[in-house]
Amino acid sequence: MPLLLTDPLAATIVALVVGLCVGSFLNVVVHRLPKMLEREWAAQCAELAGEAPARAETYNLWTPRSACPACGHRIGALDNVPVMSWLALRGRCRGCGAAISSRYPLVEIAGALAAAGAIWHFGPTWTGLAACGFLWALIALALIDADTQLLPDNLTLPLLWGGLVANLFGLFVPLADAVIGAIGGYLVLWGVYWLFKLIRGKEGMGYGDFKLLAALGAWLGWKMLPVIILLASVAGAVIGILLIVFQGRDKAKPLPFGPYLAIAGALALFAGQRLIAIYIH
Ligand SMILES: [Zn+2]
Repeated sequence: MPLLLTDPLAATIVALVVGLCVGSFLNVVVHRLPKMLEREWAAQCAELAGEAPARAETYNLWTPRSACPACGHRIGALDNVPVMSWLALRGRCRGCGAAISSRYPLVEIAGALAAAGAIWHFGPTWTGLAACGFLWALIALALIDADTQLLPDNLTLPLLWGGLVANLFGLFVPLADAVIGAIGGYLVLWGVYWLFKLIRGKEGMGYGDFKLLAALGAWLGWKMLPVIILLASVAGAVIGILLIVFQGRDKAKPLPFGPYLAIAGALALFAGQRLIAIYIH
């Protein structure tokens, strides 16, 4: 496959197709991981309380097979082709006709665009591949946080380690920048959290946010942290105001910060160097 490795256009097209399939898997992760964690916590609580654990069927990312939540119709391979199946079925279950959320094909498209963007920008290289993984993890984290206000450790921590390993090979920034970025990212939000708690007497964000910013620091280096925080705050303010205006969202209800950190991390990956150049000059 020498062509795939040397021709950026061919590599980008391959990335698009692989990205669609990974996007399909991200849908499963976003849907199931919070439920898997809930089951785990319930089992641990039962164990601590000395109760017999509730016997439950196996539930993980692979078992049981995907089924329609309305009628239980198994989703066969033919109905599981990214985007195409949703279009062919016009967004309805083959068994009962219940609507299938347009979010599923949109996440698949996001997975594809992330991969194509990464390979186009960084080339068919280890850096490009690593950037794909980084962006896919951010998509999953943003959606899980938006749905459940959780940023699971079993995504944020591997993402953090992944950034350190990538930069052990100098894929994005020098290793020292990555280590300082991870520590700094955690401490900055930890400090904001305690300030907010002391002044306002309530919690503005969760520990998952600290770990996510630590992960972004590990990938992009400490110099990118101000850019990320600025971008996340702007994105949060703009989207927050839009939600209040158009959806009448309660202003007192805290918005999850994770999705904005994820958006900022993705923007910083592609445009961060240029943004730093602008505000240094
Ligand atoms: Zn159905």
